Amino acid sequence: MNANGPILQIEGLEKRFGGLTATDGVTLDLRPGEIHALIGPNGAGKSTLINQLCGELAPDAGTIRLMGRDVTHLPTHARVALGLGRTFQVTSLLDDCTVGESVALAVQAHAGGNLRLWDRAKGRRVVQARAEALLAGTGLEDRAGVPSADLSHGERKQLELVMALALEPALMLLDEPMAGLGPVESQQMVTVLRGLRDQTAILLVEHDMEAVFALADRISVLVYGRIIATGSVEEIRDNAEVREAYLGG
Ligand code: ADP
Ligand code: MG
Repeated sequence: MNANGPILQIEGLEKRFGGLTATDGVTLDLRPGEIHALIGPNGAGKSTLINQLCGELAPDAGTIRLMGRDVTHLPTHARVALGLGRTFQVTSLLDDCTVGESVALAVQAHAGGNLRLWDRAKGRRVVQARAEALLAGTGLEDRAGVPSADLSHGERKQLELVMALALEPALMLLDEPMAGLGPVESQQMVTVLRGLRDQTAILLVEHDMEAVFALADRISVLVYGRIIATGSVEEIRDNAEVREAYLGG
C-alpha cells in the first residue's frame, strides 16, 4: 500500500431496499488522519452507508477499498483485522467491570497471543500502562476505578470509543457519537475526537453542526442517497445548494 494513499475509497456504492435507493452511487475517499464528516437530513442514507462500510449490509453495486484492498465482499471481522474500527456497544457483561478493567480487556484482546510471551506480572503491567495511556486526556482519566454501570450516558459513549481505539484502527466509523449528549458531554467528546487526529482517520456521521464545524477537515453532504457536495468547512457553509437542502437557508 502507498503510505500516502487514501485509507478508504468508496466508488459507486449503492443499496436498494425494495423500491427505495438508500445509497445511490456514493463515491468518497478518506485520507490518512482525516476527520471526514458525513452530514445530511434524516433518511439520507448515512447509517446505510456506515453499515455497508462495516460489512453489515451487502451493497447492490459499487466497491469499498480499505488501504487499497478491495473489501466489498469481506465479512466484518476481516475488515476489522485490516484496520476498520467502530464503537463497541458496551454490553451488560462489562457492567461488572470498572472503566479501567474494561479498557484493559480491550487492550488484552488486541494484544492476543503476544502477551503469552511474557510472564503474567509483566503482561499485566504492559496492559495496564496501555489502558492508562488510552484513558489519558479523555473525560474518563480519573474514572478508571468506577464500575461501568455507574457511568453517565456521555461517559459510556467515551468508554465505547476508548475500547474501540484499543484495537488501533486505521479508520474509525462513528455514527452520531454526540447523540443524546448534553452540552458539556458534547464538548468533552469533541476534545477526545480532536485528540485522535494523529491516531486514526475518522468518518463521522453527526447532526451536531457545531461539533462538525469544529472537527471536520472535510465534509460530505448526503441527500436522498447522493453526495451533493464535498469540501472544507468554509466551502460547505458557503454552498448555496447545501444551505437549501440541509442548513436551512
Ligand atoms: P440516515 O441514517 O441518513 O437517517 P438511513 O440510512 O437510516 O438514513 O435510511 C435511509 C433510507 O433507507 C430511509 O428511507 C430508511 O427508511 C431506509 N432504510 C434504512 N434501513 C432500511 C431497512 N433495513 N429496510 C428498509 N428500508 C430501510
Ligand atoms: Mg442514521
